[in-house]
Amino acid sequence: MPEPANRSFHPSEQRTLAGGPGLLRPRVLSGMRPTGKLHLGNYMGALANWVKLQDKYECYFFIADWHALTTDYADTSQIAANTLDVALDFLAAGLDPAKSVIFLQSKVLQHAELNLLLGMITPVGWLERVPSYKDQQKNLANKDLSNFGFLGYPVLMASDILIYQPQFVPVGNDQTAHVELTREVARRFNQFYKLDGREVLPEPQVLLTPSPQLPGTDGRKMSKSYGNTILMTDPEPEVRQKLKTMVTDPARVRRTDTGDPDKCPVGDLHKVFSPPETMAKVQQGCRSAGIGCIECKGWVADNLVRVLQPIQQRRASFSEAQVKEILEDGSSRARDRAEETMRQVRTAMRMTLSGENGK
Ligand code: SF4
Repeated sequence: MPEPANRSFHPSEQRTLAGGPGLLRPRVLSGMRPTGKLHLGNYMGALANWVKLQDKYECYFFIADWHALTTDYADTSQIAANTLDVALDFLAAGLDPAKSVIFLQSKVLQHAELNLLLGMITPVGWLERVPSYKDQQKNLANKDLSNFGFLGYPVLMASDILIYQPQFVPVGNDQTAHVELTREVARRFNQFYKLDGREVLPEPQVLLTPSPQLPGTDGRKMSKSYGNTILMTDPEPEVRQKLKTMVTDPARVRRTDTGDPDKCPVGDLHKVFSPPETMAKVQQGCRSAGIGCIECKGWVADNLVRVLQPIQQRRASFSEAQVKEILEDGSSRARDRAEETMRQVRTAMRMTLSGENGK
């Protein structure tokens, strides 16, 4: 992972490491929509990195339940259950409430206030140009996405980020455009409003994190919407069964045909999950038809199960009541931090009667 760019910190941004008073610990913020149980693509693409960030950064991780409404406003029946599942998967992956603030977006009403204020200054043209605006309308043709909330979701996202004044937003390569829009919104705000001559909403930097794109069982990108996922909660027999039916190099029709792991989705899984010795056996065996696909899939299944087992054991150690308590506690800590920013924002915008304290 690249080291963050060297930059100075505003006094309000400075935090200290638990083990070393006076040391700077930059703040990071990231979130996920409550889409239900998370899959290996979510784990490798985000969660595994978040877990590593916890020891080096002051981390805020949240479940973006308001964002779920931007596309699923007509049926909200699953949001609460999905939120709990995602929270459990956060904890199962190794996010630690003693190290990170883990919270629920809708429990921090300040996000909505900042969303309203930033909505006042964001040109509609910026939102219409966001690539995912048109893409999603096409991909989710069965839903009416002509709603104001869907158009405005990048403003809500900018609010989610900026309200914590983070130095970094950890994202994969494919998500940098989202952070760029957030930076533009911050820049526009800072042009209009200042507090004692200084900028209130620092522009966060992208913290590029390694995020291998995992293939799903049908060879396309692993995604819930394609129904091709291996879930973090899938028990071993299910993992093995899913692997058995996974597509392979199309050139390898018979056992005696040679294949190419670089053209095979199972080969791609090996590259992420298997040690070099196994990878060497796959390369040699596949190209010489010395191994069969069933045997090859069995090896990758072994390695997936090895990754998933400790995650599933950790998941089983949390009760629903504990998860709710962790979210309540994290949301309370997030509210305190968000309110600190909002006081500065209200004062900078002169949205106060006294002109002081942002109250
Ligand atoms: S042997 Fe493995 S890498 Fe080669 S085609 Fe079969 S499943 Fe894919």
